[in-house]
Amino acid sequence: MGFIQSPEELYHILYHLGENRAEYYGAVNPPVYVTSNFCAPDIASLRQKIIHEFEAPFYTRGYQPSTALLRKKLAALEGTEDALVVSSGSTAMAIAILSQVKTGDHVIIPRKPYSWTAYLVKNWLQRFGITYAEAEPGTADSYQALTQPNTRVYVLETPNSMTFEITPLRETCEAARRNGIVTIADNSYCTPLYQQPHALGVDLVCHSATKYLSGHSDVVAGVICGGAELIGKIFRSEFMVLGGILSPHDASALLKGLRTLPVRMEKVSASAMQLALFLQEHPKVKKVHYPFLPSFPGYDIARQQMAGCSGLLSVELDAGSFDGINRFTDALRCFLLATSWGGFESLAFPARVFADSQETYAMAVPWNLVRFSTGLEDADVLQSDLEKALSLL
Ligand SMILES: *Cc1c(COP(=O)(O)O)cnc(C)c1O
Repeated sequence: MGFIQSPEELYHILYHLGENRAEYYGAVNPPVYVTSNFCAPDIASLRQKIIHEFEAPFYTRGYQPSTALLRKKLAALEGTEDALVVSSGSTAMAIAILSQVKTGDHVIIPRKPYSWTAYLVKNWLQRFGITYAEAEPGTADSYQALTQPNTRVYVLETPNSMTFEITPLRETCEAARRNGIVTIADNSYCTPLYQQPHALGVDLVCHSATKYLSGHSDVVAGVICGGAELIGKIFRSEFMVLGGILSPHDASALLKGLRTLPVRMEKVSASAMQLALFLQEHPKVKKVHYPFLPSFPGYDIARQQMAGCSGLLSVELDAGSFDGINRFTDALRCFLLATSWGGFESLAFPARVFADSQETYAMAVPWNLVRFSTGLEDADVLQSDLEKALSLL
């Protein structure tokens, strides 16, 4: 159930908060406002619309009723005052980071963040004279040790999405606050049900809503949650300028996914734990990465700051070569081979796809790593699929 006070509160947020059903014939799902423009009956009203363009419908790049509902619910779930919904998780991270930096600043990112977050910081920001350092996850000290007088932002991603390294949020945010540094966390792995970074001190909490929040592999979306002042500033600036909005149709798909988030998280989390325990004992598995396994290096911190662990885990297989990985992945029947994660379907993503040969493989993660996203299938069915494929190694 996470850090939300009670199941009643959680279901109130997901099913009732922000829904004015009397305004639309009692429909249990809100209408989708498919319109770019909102007109006014007279000039005085048009003037009012312009004055209040960030709080009421005027033009769809700004305030939109279909996303306004989501903003309310997502902010309530993350325990923040406000939220913005954008066209992708990558957009969310980019807007959040860009909103906080200027030439001469310094940014600290974790050593293995999501690839496009890394690309933004390492390639784009550098073009504008913004430097960066990479913190080794594990302790708050790793960020503090790299902090300079011009450090402006700590980017956090805990757990990260390939090997799940954990960074202690409370201590890292305390260090940030002492130095006037803004903290931005990617909370896609846990969802607000299993981790609430804002309660631990994070200023801006971002999501790839493409993953668990929508949960059906049918929408690409992003979320930025934070205090009213910070979100208001971003809304009036980066959000309006870059215009990476979520379409009303996609907002409707995301809302539908959000309704079932607690049931899905409970299921994928239980299945992932079953598979992690099974894989840990299997002779063909060298290592299992899953934060709630006691053998995991960040286990203690994970247990402290996470109320649950999601359906994403990875293994290092005793595969001998790329051929072994190929035999394993091609034998899977329940797990589809694809990137992304967090949908109804179980997925396997072998890291070896990044190169044609072991010799040219140069990733930050081991070549024999395979990441799994557990879907909504029965865990025993998934386990037997893995068992069969492992027997071919
Ligand atoms: C997928 C992902 C993103 C990017 O999200 P998109 O919706 O694909 O743009 C960002 N962070 C993490 C941790 C992700 O897994």
